[in-house]
Amino acid sequence: AQRDAGQTEFLQAVADVMDSLWPFIQKHPRYAEHGLLDRIVEPERAILFRVSWVDDSGEVHVNRGYRVQHNSSIGPYKGGIRFHPSVNLSILKFLAFEQTFKNALTTLPMGGGKGGSDFNPKGRSPGEVMRFCQAFMTELHRHLGPDTDIPAGDIGVGAREVGFMAGMVKKLSNRADCVFTGKGLSFGGSLMRPEATGYGTVYFAEQMLRHADRSFDGLRVSISGSGNVAQYAAEKAMELGAKVMTMSDSSGTVIDESGFTTEKLAVMMEVKNHLYGRVSDYAERVSDARFEPGQRPWSVKADVALPCATQNELDEKEARRLVDNGVVCVAEGANMPCTADAVRVFEHAKVLYAPGKASNAGGVATSGLEMSQNAMRLSWTREEVDARLREIMCGIHTACLRHGQQEDGSVSYVDGANIAGFVKVADAMLAQGVT
Ligand code: NDP
Repeated sequence: AQRDAGQTEFLQAVADVMDSLWPFIQKHPRYAEHGLLDRIVEPERAILFRVSWVDDSGEVHVNRGYRVQHNSSIGPYKGGIRFHPSVNLSILKFLAFEQTFKNALTTLPMGGGKGGSDFNPKGRSPGEVMRFCQAFMTELHRHLGPDTDIPAGDIGVGAREVGFMAGMVKKLSNRADCVFTGKGLSFGGSLMRPEATGYGTVYFAEQMLRHADRSFDGLRVSISGSGNVAQYAAEKAMELGAKVMTMSDSSGTVIDESGFTTEKLAVMMEVKNHLYGRVSDYAERVSDARFEPGQRPWSVKADVALPCATQNELDEKEARRLVDNGVVCVAEGANMPCTADAVRVFEHAKVLYAPGKASNAGGVATSGLEMSQNAMRLSWTREEVDARLREIMCGIHTACLRHGQQEDGSVSYVDGANIAGFVKVADAMLAQGVT
């Protein structure tokens, strides 16, 4: 901890995993041998670089770029790129650490990594975003490769930015290797990749509900965020018969007591994906929607909560509010959206709670499927990819049940996901000696 002093999010993520692992390791002490625990928390490599670029008025800007290559014991580093002013080494180390276990849970051969920059794409022209992406890649490209490190999108990095970055890597390397996933369909992307994280989160929650003899049909669902994950979580939840009550962004929350519909969601997608607007712009267009500035969605009465925006966006007080309002299931679409105290509230109240490394693994799993399709130089149909995604999410659910059974008969998805992911990575590291 001394070495990582001040890296709050990273220490929070490590403490969360170690809490789950400790009883397991006491029963299986071989996992504490050969310095395994010290090695598994330390990134194999963290690259930090300058990104200089020129804005539309000719002014030069300098941002900081990062790539944390956390663990490659089961495959090449894999994890998204985030562009957000809050990005720092602690946040990317936490994300890369989590990604390592999440990727292991998918059962696909992918190691863990994460990268990004403190660049803020909001308010930047398309030309500025393109120049920034290109400048970012002039450095990062030398650390990537189809068998080394394959990034993808994350907050602030959608299809447009992936296109700009993948295009620059191709130009610099003079190769058409798969060095990015989340690509557009016209240049090697996979059908269903945009939908995968949101759909996968709902598939996972569906399994949790089914295990408790329930279904989504007729349930009230609160969703935070209005980006990629939130949009498709909303779409799939509605398809399964749920009533989606909320979406949000960093400016506030929109509440729709009558529930989102396919048509309303299309308006949200237009506002967010094409106009780069705010949820308040959505509320101005849809009369059923009420905009609450500065509010998060967690005070709305809901049966299921799907936090799909960002880390630490649901705290202990909000968790208590959700529990008091009768929430039965919380599945994380975002990475670490619930604080550690909030998770304790859910687990104590026996709410079905899934950590992101299990419930949002559908995105990276489908990225793995994109890599396979690229390597085989073919494209699977939407139905084929969706079927594989569903199967992977069901497999993760089963792994969580296997490792998360508690003495009182309940399931801790936190323990289940942490232990199942850890065992896979740890076995591979032990087999490969001290490296
Ligand atoms: P997007 O950029 O598409 O959307 C992010 C959403 O979260 C936006 O609505 C954004 O609002 C909101 N948000 C971001 N930062 C904050 C903040 N500090 N406070 C409040 N709201 C915020 O990103 P994604 O949907 O791709 O990612 C969302 C989460 O899901 C992240 O945690 C990401 O790591 C995780 N994830 C994403 C995967 C993917 O495939 N995309 C895969 C697995 C996990 P605003 O527009 O105001 O910033």
